Amino acid sequence: MKTVSVVIPCFNESEVIDFTVEELLSVTNSISNYKFELIFVNDGSSDDTESKLLAYSKQHENIRTISFSRNFGHQQAVSAGLDVSTGDAVVLIDADLQDPPKVISDMIVKWEEGFDVVYGTRANREGESWFKRVTAKSFYRLLSYLSEVQIPLDTGDFRLMDRQVVDHLIAMPEKSRFIRGMVSWIGFNQTAITYERSARFAGESKYPLTKMIKFGLDGILSFSVKPLKLSIMMGFVCSGISMLMLLYFVYVRIMTDHWVSGWTSLFVAILFMGGVQLISIGIVGEYVARIYKESKNRPLYIIKERRSINAEETRSITD
Ligand code: UDP
Ligand code: MG
Repeated sequence: MKTVSVVIPCFNESEVIDFTVEELLSVTNSISNYKFELIFVNDGSSDDTESKLLAYSKQHENIRTISFSRNFGHQQAVSAGLDVSTGDAVVLIDADLQDPPKVISDMIVKWEEGFDVVYGTRANREGESWFKRVTAKSFYRLLSYLSEVQIPLDTGDFRLMDRQVVDHLIAMPEKSRFIRGMVSWIGFNQTAITYERSARFAGESKYPLTKMIKFGLDGILSFSVKPLKLSIMMGFVCSGISMLMLLYFVYVRIMTDHWVSGWTSLFVAILFMGGVQLISIGIVGEYVARIYKESKNRPLYIIKERRSINAEETRSITD
């Protein structure tokens, strides 16, 4: 019998975790002919998510939990779950029931048809703020324009991946992880399933603006060098503009008699050039910061405690 692992990252999800466990158990029990293992990764929660998960892992032998020593972030939590997963396929799903567990059975059908990656594309996003919807939509479009690999639009981490894809993903050593992009980069046979993304079942989003910006930058800078080229382009545009301005000032100096009043344009030009230079240095800096992070080669996360998970199975800690 084939095994399917389900990886669920959890950060302060105490309000929703009981419903999530119940829903996932009922959905996975209703799918016959497959064995399921549910891997909950507690990403340094400060509420009682951890104790609840430990209690569930004692009750159900197919529930496994990992607890991080602190909050390492969503992508790290997902990576840890993938590292310890043993299934022939792995499903990634959020803990807040925004991704409906029922879709898992449709994903398995597609997987059996021969697709190696079945990702969920959001038809709409309910219960999320206007700001989140607009920024998310624009982000996916900007990313798809900039990225060198084709990353599907409006697609989160909710997906099923075949073991061979998971093994390649685990073998990728990068520290700034943007998993949905990495999976697109890996390739193989990929297909989409459209689903309605509902509102969070309970609790608040664990992605405040700062985390969203960091995640967005990781996505763009890990999958594109176009921003570096952008600064060269900005340089050319600015030089062009200053040439034109020079011509204009020469014209004003020779042909008119009110040429002293040029201070404003001078200041504008200086500020403009200064701004462009700072932006360009900033862009280079962002890449350098990522190179620095990679060169330190720290582990992605540190596990404090694990239930029903053997130390040998956890590859990254020993790396
Ligand atoms: N999450 C996590 N670590 C974090 C932030 C979030 O493990 O630092 C988990 C969270 O518990 C949830 C998933 O990642 O299962 C997605 O987070 P959330 O629902 O808050 O994001 P949103 O849906 O608002 O983008
Ligand atoms: Mg959510």
